[in-house]
Amino acid sequence: MRLVLLGAPGSGKGTQAERIVGWLRIAHLSTGHILREAISSGTPIGLSVQAVVESGGLVPDEVVSSIVLERLADPSCQSGYVLDGFPRTIGQAQALDAGLMQMGQELDHVVELVVSPDILIERIVRRADQARAMGIPIRADDNPATFKKRLDAYLAETAPVSDYYRNRGKLRLVDGMQDPDAVAREVLRALGKS
Ligand code: ADP
Repeated sequence: MRLVLLGAPGSGKGTQAERIVGWLRIAHLSTGHILREAISSGTPIGLSVQAVVESGGLVPDEVVSSIVLERLADPSCQSGYVLDGFPRTIGQAQALDAGLMQMGQELDHVVELVVSPDILIERIVRRADQARAMGIPIRADDNPATFKKRLDAYLAETAPVSDYYRNRGKLRLVDGMQDPDAVAREVLRALGKS
């Protein structure tokens, strides 16, 4: 199963991706996670993307696309994968298509979690408050001003990616405003797994 999970920041992609990879025993590729790890280990890529990630902007297409395509060739992705946070621009979607064609692969599904902007902002404020209350470090980009920038980047750059897949007959929409279990059940239905 090769799946792309689309959705705005805070839409629940990470939570649902974890469940999906658990059920289907496939790999989870989260570009946000990969980039944050590179930043905290101080790798050359990490250092080059730190400022843009922490300010809520988008990392250049070539950088993210080459990270993802390299990972997709890894044996751990042989039995399938969930892409979470990629593609985020039309350029990345085209790079993914070209890479998949070279590997003789095709995406099985593209699922978008749909959540309204006011609920997204509510969720992100709550996530930061909870982390603060528990003494857990807060993501550098989880504050209302930076979140607004991430949401704007999403609307400008990533919303068109939905149309890209809709036009190819691949897109399935799932209501991401239900509780996580209900969202998970709907995602499974969208994948033809229930
Ligand atoms: P969220 O979906 O909640 O915004 P992510 O963990 O997916 O969080 O991404 C965090 C940040 O990492 C983004 O705001 C962006 O700076 C960077 N990033 C992640 N994936 C990509 C991508 N595909 N293209 C460009 N930048 C990315």
